[in-house]
Amino acid sequence: MVLKRLGLVLSIWFCLLLVFSSAPALAQSQVASVQAQASDPTASRPAPTTPNSNSTYFPETGHYLGGTFRAYWQRYGGLAQFGLPLTEEFQELNPADGKVYTVQYFERNRFEYHPEFKNTFYEVLLGLLGRQATTGRTFPDAPAFTTTSRRFYFPETRHSLSNGFKTYWESRGGLAIYGYPISEEFQEGGYTVQYFERARFEYHPENRGTPYEVQLGLLGTNLLTATGRVLPQAFRVQPEPGSVVQGHALQVTVSAAGGQLLGSSLAGVKLNFFQQGDKQVAVAGVVSDAPLRPRLLVTEIKDASGVVRRFEQNIGVLAGQFEQQQIEVDPTVEASLGSDEEQARERARVYSFYNTVTPEKLWTGRFSWPLSVKAPITTPFGSRRNYVGGGYEVHDAIDFGVPSGTPILAPQRGRVVLAEFQKVRGGIVIIDHGLGVHTAYFHQSRIQVKVGDMVSTGNLIGYVGTTGLSTGPHLHWEMRLGSTGIDPEEWVGRNFIAADEVNLVNQTPSHSRVYRY
Ligand SMILES: [Zn+2]
Repeated sequence: MVLKRLGLVLSIWFCLLLVFSSAPALAQSQVASVQAQASDPTASRPAPTTPNSNSTYFPETGHYLGGTFRAYWQRYGGLAQFGLPLTEEFQELNPADGKVYTVQYFERNRFEYHPEFKNTFYEVLLGLLGRQATTGRTFPDAPAFTTTSRRFYFPETRHSLSNGFKTYWESRGGLAIYGYPISEEFQEGGYTVQYFERARFEYHPENRGTPYEVQLGLLGTNLLTATGRVLPQAFRVQPEPGSVVQGHALQVTVSAAGGQLLGSSLAGVKLNFFQQGDKQVAVAGVVSDAPLRPRLLVTEIKDASGVVRRFEQNIGVLAGQFEQQQIEVDPTVEASLGSDEEQARERARVYSFYNTVTPEKLWTGRFSWPLSVKAPITTPFGSRRNYVGGGYEVHDAIDFGVPSGTPILAPQRGRVVLAEFQKVRGGIVIIDHGLGVHTAYFHQSRIQVKVGDMVSTGNLIGYVGTTGLSTGPHLHWEMRLGSTGIDPEEWVGRNFIAADEVNLVNQTPSHSRVYRY
């Protein structure tokens, strides 16, 4: 079965060699007209001003991919197989046959266009980059053996293929994509590698069990560099996760080394970045009543040559599970709340703190729960509340029903920016955790901190009460990213902007929503 399949790909390969060697040179006039453009094919291009379905712009490198090359790139493995485009299409003399072809370089390979094979399998051919990268080197032959299903021997190049590299080679295109092995496995650059006519396989034990265990060498990058060309700076914008539940947050990591991050916004709301090593990281919140359609994440980075690359990424919004509640407010409580004007002033005062961005990150790691006792959640985050007699609101906070006098503890490090008694919110404390992240604690009977205090995880803030607009003793705990209310429970489970990037995955514990310790 395996041999039969191998026979099939081998026959394709011989056919390919035949047609390859008979490829005609381009007409001189075509070559001349391209040379006349005289622009550096590696130089980054600005982002398109109007959408164009004929080509895809890659802001990572500032290059376009279109037409037949795009169709080939998409069909045979895309980013994982070929990498990002490093050039535009241009004319280049091919050292393998001394002829000029339209080519485009990618991080891991080179595409060559052969108009003489239009509408056939060979219209686009991959460059023999494994051969080019090893020019002048010789690799010892493997002793001949009979091919088995576990181990292949190729008399054409006198090399063998087995184990993980064989699995990778077979499952991702075989001869047509990689060509024959031209070396055995050996150690190079700290990795086990093997060269093929069109690729270098690298084994990455640090990625064991992931799709990145075997990676392709950056032969396109290496070859372009060796010809003395200046490569485009590679930038990346990585949102995590790519789809967010209403009321949750996403982390955006930008790699813009050598360039300048001009800014980033989600649905028009500016992100606040934190420098972490050679990357910049920000957290963006999605409001709990956000419409269930993608939100646009826009990031602009200026490269060293002044070209602005614009990244546009759609962030999916997923429905949260929210409760519906009917709330009846005691008339005597309502009477004590003050006029609409007073209430608006109180709200504006609170939001002025939420909207203040401290540029340093004061928290480290996950957040703790603000209570150390068993605390039933009386109103979960995001509950849709209807007030008896009129009025509707979304409750962007968690309410814990606990007795008056229960100690309230800081869930993370931060600075107290507000500590006072208000008509609606009662005894309120706001802690600034930096980068626009705040937590707030309402309805306290007594407050134990003052403005300017630095608090650490577990420090006493105050005591539970029922001051302000409250139907009984409880702690109202909210979290804000700017003015956006987000679910604090997510921050108990996930380490946002972790010092250790391995920790970025969502680790929300799956336990009952009703009781907390
Ligand atoms: Zn509440």
